[in-house]
Amino acid sequence: MSYNSLEEIVRECEEKALPFDEIILLDDMNERNVKREDSLAAMYGMWEAMKRADAGYDGNLKSRSGLVGGAGAAMKAYVESGEALCGSFVGDVMASALAMGESNACMKRIVAAPTAGACGVLPAVLVNYQKRNGTPDEEIVRALYTAAGIGQVVAARAYIAGASGGCQAEIGTASAMAAGALTALRGGSPSQITHAAAMALKNLLGLVCDPVGGLVEVPCVKRNVIGSVNALSAADMALAGISSRIPPDQVIDAMREVGDQMHPTLRETGQGGLANTPAAREWCAAQEEE
Ligand code: SF4
Repeated sequence: MSYNSLEEIVRECEEKALPFDEIILLDDMNERNVKREDSLAAMYGMWEAMKRADAGYDGNLKSRSGLVGGAGAAMKAYVESGEALCGSFVGDVMASALAMGESNACMKRIVAAPTAGACGVLPAVLVNYQKRNGTPDEEIVRALYTAAGIGQVVAARAYIAGASGGCQAEIGTASAMAAGALTALRGGSPSQITHAAAMALKNLLGLVCDPVGGLVEVPCVKRNVIGSVNALSAADMALAGISSRIPPDQVIDAMREVGDQMHPTLRETGQGGLANTPAAREWCAAQEEE
């Protein structure tokens, strides 16, 4: 995609009087030299894969390492008990985010959006949004273009991989994409979409990548929950008329600066942060003995 800044996309929306997602769809057609129906078919395919992955979750599965499994089912049962502090909608989003993260750890098919580690964020908010509101697939697919546009700008200005910029780049970007998609679904303006994305990213700035044993399991699965819930709150803030004091593109630039300064032990090497706790080291040592 050709956009290097969110501001540029917003300007295009205003100049052409088109919604955010249409600008990104046109850009995709142009960049990949495909027809509208082909671009849409590819995005539909992505959405169908997300829904299938969500529906296909098996709460009885454990990852090969044994580190994760069953949390999505436990959360779902808790939500169904009516006791969840966050209520049923947010509770369901949390359960889906855990489920997708676990499915990834259990080698099931997922959609990396933007990465496998952060694969639970977008589906968790969108699948449950659709279930709650009966939103047609077409509208969700359009929101996925909004998410894609945000993700592309982050990738162009900074990065989306934990190995490059820490978990802020993975879960942070996924959360920004989801916040923008939700804001679009609720009828937010292009500017509100970018501010929702910015607020989501700001809230996760500095988040390190510290997977135990180098496996995309701990803390990754549960970080999908915070990415999802953070997206909901950022979208609601934007829709309430609250904006990011720091312009959205500058927030992305700040994320890059923070990522550049992050010590290598905190960038997916499995050597720092949670990966370097006594519990994590003991677990790793036990694996080596086996
Ligand atoms: S901790 Fe690292 S591997 Fe895990 S989700 Fe975050 S960026 Fe990805």
